[in-house]
Amino acid sequence: MKIGVPREVFPGETRVALTPESARQLQKLGYECLIESGAGQASGFSDDAYEAADVKVVPDAATLWKEADIIAKVRQPDATELGYLAKGKTLISFFNPAGNEEGMEKAKASGANVIAMEMVPRISRAQKMDALSSMANIAGYRAVIEAGNNFGRFFTGQITAAGKVPPAKVLVVGAGVAGLAAIGTSTSLGAITYAFDVRPEVAEQVESMGAEFVYLDFEEEQQDGAATGGYASVSSPEFREAQLAKFRELAPEMDIVITTALIPNREAPKLWLEDMVKAMKPGSVIVDLAAERGGNVEGTVKDEKVVTDNGVTIIGYTDFPARMGAQASTLYATNIRHMLTDLTPGKDGKIVHNMEDDVIRGATVTYEGEITFPPPPPKVQ
Ligand code: NAD
Repeated sequence: MKIGVPREVFPGETRVALTPESARQLQKLGYECLIESGAGQASGFSDDAYEAADVKVVPDAATLWKEADIIAKVRQPDATELGYLAKGKTLISFFNPAGNEEGMEKAKASGANVIAMEMVPRISRAQKMDALSSMANIAGYRAVIEAGNNFGRFFTGQITAAGKVPPAKVLVVGAGVAGLAAIGTSTSLGAITYAFDVRPEVAEQVESMGAEFVYLDFEEEQQDGAATGGYASVSSPEFREAQLAKFRELAPEMDIVITTALIPNREAPKLWLEDMVKAMKPGSVIVDLAAERGGNVEGTVKDEKVVTDNGVTIIGYTDFPARMGAQASTLYATNIRHMLTDLTPGKDGKIVHNMEDDVIRGATVTYEGEITFPPPPPKVQ
């Protein structure tokens, strides 16, 4: 069978779902690989590099979608791409099944099988295909780099002939995948790093990375996330008040705040309020990684950088992985390659869409003309 990878059409998208290296691995599974001309350009992979890896370069998207049996891409397909779906084809891509009714209906009507990368169950066996995590890792790292780029001072403290420089103080709110990547980057740059999460079980991880976990003066135990399968749920009003009071206390001290707090299937909680932004020093930087879902920070403008009247920069970009196209493509292409490895048990270039497999079933959102989303809960954790 043939795997085809088109050029991403979303404005500003630099990622690509196939690299010359991942193509080599897919060929070992028995597949022929095709790529649309120019698809890897923005992430540093030329047509020549693909050709050198025995990938066939095709001139346009229409030819690619027609020739390929399996199409792998990054962003959810747009209307034109949905029009290329057909029975017998498999699409593997982010698809936003919960918020993409039109796409789901079109995929169903086309008879194509669609595997949505954001639906890969977060169980140990599937970590190698977990594109949400690989992209969140990049976002967390890049958030610190963007903050540094907009911060007029060093991260690390220094004693130089020209004077003593205090280390920057960084607060990371939310210590999931992106938050932990941000914490690791911040401590490795030498900043004094603090982190807060409603899930107390992450405190140890935070501390092992050289950061300080922020505890609340709260009578009850910090919210126990275990009850919701490792994810946060909505905080009680009392807990929220205690959290906001702690942030109010920290705001004048912090040079950089990186917020990553999310609750599954909800708008991002507002945690860094206007008065906290006002209490920060001029020159401070906030990066709101929750901007896509409404933002954790009052004053975030999605996809923009704003500077407040008191000189605080608030960054609401939502394209952090695309700002590191080469790295993001390499990791995403590896996630895709692992998904295809599981879909090709015979290593004979033939896809076996095993709906009895928890991971494949969990990620499949349309199958043989039916909508198969949401999936039943996985049997194995
Ligand atoms: P996420 O992006 O949904 O949320 C980010 C973080 O925000 C979470 O740590 C959450 O606890 C925190 N948060 C929510 N509300 C908050 C608030 N009011 N204040 C402060 N923090 C708040 O999370 P994620 O990065 O996708 O990871 C969530 C969980 O999934 C973690 O337990 C992680 O270990 C787990 N996970 C498992 C796998 C796997 O087993 N394959 C892969 C990835 C993640």
